[in-house]
Amino acid sequence: MPGSEVYVGFDLGGSSLKASSFSLDGELQERCSIDTQKCLRVEDYLNLFSEAANSLSSTKHLKGIGVAVAGILDLDAGKVVDSPNLPILCGVPLLEMLKDSFPPTPIHMMNDANAAAFGEYFAGAGEGHESMFILTLGTGIGGSFVQNGEILQGVSGMAGEIGHMVIEKNGKPCTCGSNGCLEAYFSSWALARDAKTHAEQHPDSPIGSSDEISPIFLAELAVSGDHAVRAIWENGGHALGVGIANIMNLLNPASIVLVGGLMNAKEHFLATAQRAWEANSFEQAHNSSKVLLGKLGEWAGVRGAIQPFVVK
Ligand SMILES: [Zn+2]
Repeated sequence: MPGSEVYVGFDLGGSSLKASSFSLDGELQERCSIDTQKCLRVEDYLNLFSEAANSLSSTKHLKGIGVAVAGILDLDAGKVVDSPNLPILCGVPLLEMLKDSFPPTPIHMMNDANAAAFGEYFAGAGEGHESMFILTLGTGIGGSFVQNGEILQGVSGMAGEIGHMVIEKNGKPCTCGSNGCLEAYFSSWALARDAKTHAEQHPDSPIGSSDEISPIFLAELAVSGDHAVRAIWENGGHALGVGIANIMNLLNPASIVLVGGLMNAKEHFLATAQRAWEANSFEQAHNSSKVLLGKLGEWAGVRGAIQPFVVK
């Protein structure tokens, strides 16, 4: 009976396992989030998957499982190749192990960034659009392009690395080893670096009052009227706007969806970003590519993970 059948979507990140149940047409039913910080072995993770799936589908037939994982995956082998946030799972054939835990339920695995892109494209801000570029603004800057329901992967899966698009020749050094990347101007780490530099030059700055320079702390200082911190946000916003202009000119997607933790401080950078994308892209491009805020927040990945099963 279709009403008693569900899909369960998972999103495994560095600190939590998020899980949701969905009807066969992709409507959200229930959800839960489990702390994974006590997981010391692969089996501990597998137990959490089982617990969550059992609680979300206890009275229903589990028709398919979608799993999003934060890391580089070998999809043919069903393996986690590398994941800085999930070191215990590196090299582990996770897909096979999950299939052993849930026989005979079909299971689909994908990278978490692609899952979040699918979530916003099929059930969030990009719903109904022919094409969408998703920009994830957080510790780093991630991106993914979806067109006609397909993610542009590139020949080796590296397409969409928008955070490492060079926006300044011979610019600031980036974590990737290059210089002048978008991420070196607008990301949690870049903002913290600029704030620290300012505090070193201005010992009376309130930035120096905190050991940890987080985006939340910098947003609070901006709200309190600190001009130097406001300028740091606006400089970052300008860089973001240049990056968005490049996306508009290159791909002209129907929508560019902004998600991630830095969006909590959007009032400090988004207006500057908009001026920059309007100044640096063709009018026809920025008039037709709509910049939108993500709708699913941190739950985009669980919804995207079950998309391969959903009847369109
Ligand atoms: Zn880079």
